Amino acid sequence: MSLGEFDLISRYFKQSNTQITDGVEVGIGDDCAILELPEGYQLAVTTDSLVCGVHFFEDVCPYRLGYKSLAVNLSDLAAMGADPKWVSLALTLPIVDEKWLSEFCRGFFELALKYNVRLIGGDTTKGPLSITVSAKGVVARHKALLRSRAQVDDLICVSGVLGDGGLGLACKTGKQALNNPTPFIDALELTEPRNDLGKLLINYASSCIDISDGLIQDLKHILDASLCSAEIEVNKLPLSAAMKHEISCKTIVQKQALNYALSGGDDYELLFTIKQEHYLQFCAQYPDAQVTVIGKVIADNQQKVRFTEAGQTVNLQLAGWDHFK
Ligand code: ADP
Ligand code: MG
Repeated sequence: MSLGEFDLISRYFKQSNTQITDGVEVGIGDDCAILELPEGYQLAVTTDSLVCGVHFFEDVCPYRLGYKSLAVNLSDLAAMGADPKWVSLALTLPIVDEKWLSEFCRGFFELALKYNVRLIGGDTTKGPLSITVSAKGVVARHKALLRSRAQVDDLICVSGVLGDGGLGLACKTGKQALNNPTPFIDALELTEPRNDLGKLLINYASSCIDISDGLIQDLKHILDASLCSAEIEVNKLPLSAAMKHEISCKTIVQKQALNYALSGGDDYELLFTIKQEHYLQFCAQYPDAQVTVIGKVIADNQQKVRFTEAGQTVNLQLAGWDHFK
């Protein structure tokens, strides 16, 4: 390595976003960081690794990789309704490529600054490229949104639109030709975590999860934890204008779009359950929140997902569907 480990840490990480001081008594530079939790709050902690060749392509733009490696962690905090505060970063690098590192940091710190998140430590080692981020947030005592609290008759909602990230991946791997791949590849690589929404939902939703593995798979986690089943109205799944455009260009058919929306993965939207009256209160309070009702929780402790179209059960032969039979 041209640049030593400690020079690298001090050049790229130590002075990075020290303007954010909230709760940090000791940051980078000692054996541990020392953090102060506000009175009446609990700590929410999550870790996600991104491994080259598994979670990202070797040639991915380092700015986007830095952004996404933090975004997927912030998304887990969003799903619990936690307010992101601090993050640690374990980086394994094959070589010290300063151009690559500074672009990686540009993406990472751009997102960190957006959510007032301070880098408080990490580890830097040599080896095959991989990134492990651990994000820490705070949430008012006993208010965290759990997967296990969905109730029969709750509405099932999602934020944003579905399927674009999964379609972006299919496009990158050459499985899908598109009229205009850009918005889908952007959705895949420039993940936008829904932390603002997550923080609002703690006073309204009964359960919540972020959609990283596809709507159906992540919905199943809520159903398993809450011992209930779900009815999803396929015509209500929110698709992006870009996705609708591809359908109108006939590069993909409606059924493929549904497939991406239901099992594509990489959407990082929030999927949550909410009592009907709380949903009405939420909409009155936050009319601009981009959330769509896509179904409801039903009483059947077999944890199944039933698809409907205008109230009638439909049998969707979807990729990934077998897994849940
Ligand atoms: P130790 O050997 O005691 O674990 P290190 O020598 O690995 O400490 O790290 C020195 C300091 O730099 C520590 O405060 C550590 O948290 C921080 N650090 C190391 N790598 C990173 C990184 N990639 N990002 C942020 N902080 C880092
Ligand atoms: Mg170390």
